[in-house]
Amino acid sequence: MSYRSASSHYKEIYGEKVYRVALDAGCTCPNRDGTKGTGGCTFCSGSGSGEFAADRALPIAEQLVSAKARVGKKSRSHKYIAYFQNFTNTYGDETVLKRKYEEALSDPEVVGISIATRPDSISEKMYGILAELAQRTHVWIELGLQTMHESSAAWFHRGYALSEFERAVERLSAIPGNLEIIVHVILDLPVETKDMMRETIDYCSHLPIHGIKIANLNVLSETSLAEDYEKQPFSLMEENEYIAFLGEIVERLRPDLVIYRMTGDGAKKALIAPLWVADKRKVRNDITAYFSSHNIEQGRKFRP
Ligand code: SF4
Repeated sequence: MSYRSASSHYKEIYGEKVYRVALDAGCTCPNRDGTKGTGGCTFCSGSGSGEFAADRALPIAEQLVSAKARVGKKSRSHKYIAYFQNFTNTYGDETVLKRKYEEALSDPEVVGISIATRPDSISEKMYGILAELAQRTHVWIELGLQTMHESSAAWFHRGYALSEFERAVERLSAIPGNLEIIVHVILDLPVETKDMMRETIDYCSHLPIHGIKIANLNVLSETSLAEDYEKQPFSLMEENEYIAFLGEIVERLRPDLVIYRMTGDGAKKALIAPLWVADKRKVRNDITAYFSSHNIEQGRKFRP
């Protein structure tokens, strides 16, 4: 079987390789500022699950310059997607946020915008802004679902109900123009069986969404998950087991869904477990070898 990788999808749209550059809109998160909770999702790092974003103190234009320079070392690409990655990037003063999106889009090399957020944090005004943007550029909205199971979501303190996610997907999918929805899923939550993980994947396959980011749970330092793990370590899948399960998950997914990520992406220096994730090149090669030996083909090379 074959699946759609992010790079093949970008090539379909833009005809060439496109890089995502991580930016910081200076947002916080309702799951941290007391609106929905104060501790955040237990796995979330102090940078709001965006370890690779630029310095939030800098204007967006300057963040873009440094982010592009980092990518430029390994690529000749001149097309970028501005990726507002950390914390909740539709949460805050909509006028200020719109200005930041526009600042990124005013760079002639930026061909689209990807906004990571929570489904409970998109106001009416923000839906209007997204609808307007989708008429003139390519917009990706990334929703951190992680699991369809409410009991697991309660375990990591997600702070919103599945019904809120479903309402947001319904609203976003009704927006005309170039708007794609990406859902983030975490495999290997220690409170879940593999059957529960399969149910989340099947659930996603039935949603009107366009892509998925799959991660295995990473325990990062200075998170409440790390405190729990240190008090009472739980077992996480070894690399071989994870890759074999990933193969099954990829085969299970609706084939038109674009797969943007296949493993966790915590900063190496913060990684506590599982340590095999740290060697990204090896993991990428091992996934490629496993997939190739099991006839799971990708359109283009992907980035685990
Ligand atoms: S919703 Fe996102 S930014 Fe907020 S605490 Fe959870 S992972 Fe972190």
